[in-house]
Amino acid sequence: MLNYDEIKKVDPEIYEAIMNEVERQYHNLELIASENIVSEAVMEAAGSVLTNKYAEGYPYRYSRKSGELLYRLYGRYYGGCEFVDDVERLAIERAKELFGAQHANVQPHSGSQANMAAYFTLIKPGDTILSLELTHGGHLTHGHPLSFSGKLFNIVPYGVNKDTEQFDYEMIREKALECKPDMILTGASAYPRSIDFKKFREIADEVGATLVVDMAHIAGLIATGLHPNPIPYADIVTTTTHKTLRGPRGGMILCKEKYAQELDKWVFPGIQGGPLEHIIAAKAVAFKEALADDFVVYQKQILANAQALAKGLIKRGFNLVSDGTDTHLMLLNLGSEEEGGPSGKKMEGSLDIAGITANKNTVPFDTRPPFVASGIRLGTPAVTTRGMKEAEMDIVADFIRKVYDNYDDEEQLIKIKEDVQALCAQFTIFEELRK
Ligand code: PLP
Repeated sequence: MLNYDEIKKVDPEIYEAIMNEVERQYHNLELIASENIVSEAVMEAAGSVLTNKYAEGYPYRYSRKSGELLYRLYGRYYGGCEFVDDVERLAIERAKELFGAQHANVQPHSGSQANMAAYFTLIKPGDTILSLELTHGGHLTHGHPLSFSGKLFNIVPYGVNKDTEQFDYEMIREKALECKPDMILTGASAYPRSIDFKKFREIADEVGATLVVDMAHIAGLIATGLHPNPIPYADIVTTTTHKTLRGPRGGMILCKEKYAQELDKWVFPGIQGGPLEHIIAAKAVAFKEALADDFVVYQKQILANAQALAKGLIKRGFNLVSDGTDTHLMLLNLGSEEEGGPSGKKMEGSLDIAGITANKNTVPFDTRPPFVASGIRLGTPAVTTRGMKEAEMDIVADFIRKVYDNYDDEEQLIKIKEDVQALCAQFTIFEELRK
């Protein structure tokens, strides 16, 4: 049972902020593609006594002589780790089972740190990475100049095909042949289509590069077989645990056994200190939930809802990047400045006033700067967790159209908010906290 009575007594200001956030999450329609609503079990684990424990190291160690994996042998730099060892081992075993991986490291504090450890395992500063450009759907850690990735490595970006707004594998192959990368990186933050990992592997093999797949957004779909699995093709797979996978905020890395030791060293002591065992416990709980039969039902509904939302938006005259989606997310293309209408930034603000949370996003070949952008990214994981189905997605598409038509009319936006809140009230969350 969720209960914040102690915070209320000890720190009323933080209590108030948390309760305000409870109300925001309850009343608002959450369409941020990278967010979700975790179970109470995941929250309990994340708020558990495990936060008190230091556990630098790993719950196992390799035998220097035989190379064999030895659990519980001098794996940690602190005493008293026998129970956090159980926690971390369960998280590792479940992660391996969920994705069919040979090795899992569940310690990365975030997706960004998972990526950093993966890159350092395979390449060194100055080496070349062929990766998806940010404005075409890539992530900051895939080579943005302000990220460690752009600062330490030579980044050659690939984009989507101008006509289809999808990956053009021949174009990517030609780029690879041209720049001879040491590592190819795929996976995305804002690419709505399915990714052909086998083709990426073939390109990597042809040019002698390693392949990293960042499956952060689509991990839940992959775990349930609703998107092709990168594990057979990639040298290393990274992910966050909090998006479609519906776990706590955090990262994880999966790889072939041959990289395991080097990778583990890069996570700790390479780039991190003590692991967050309470978060690792929450990851383990989320993985258990993801291994259960009903998780596939949930992921199928995410996809059905994304299809229904896309259809509802197209029906109401919107353009979607690549004309639709194969996944949980879609990109609304609002058009260029010359075409009139709101920018992504403006539309994000108008949606916010109407109680709909989404984020501005560049669209491929965007002429506006990223902080203004011409698109809005929408995703269905959180509303699906709330229990919404296809019929509600059509209503949501209608809300979005109304917001678009009234983007500069605050009075109208506030009226739309009343309808948004009435819809959300039919799909309750956090009832105990709100009593
Ligand atoms: N990789 C991808 C594809 C992402 O979309 C994100 C975050 O949105 C990350 C990595 C980074 O994750 P984090 O915010 O946990 O560092």
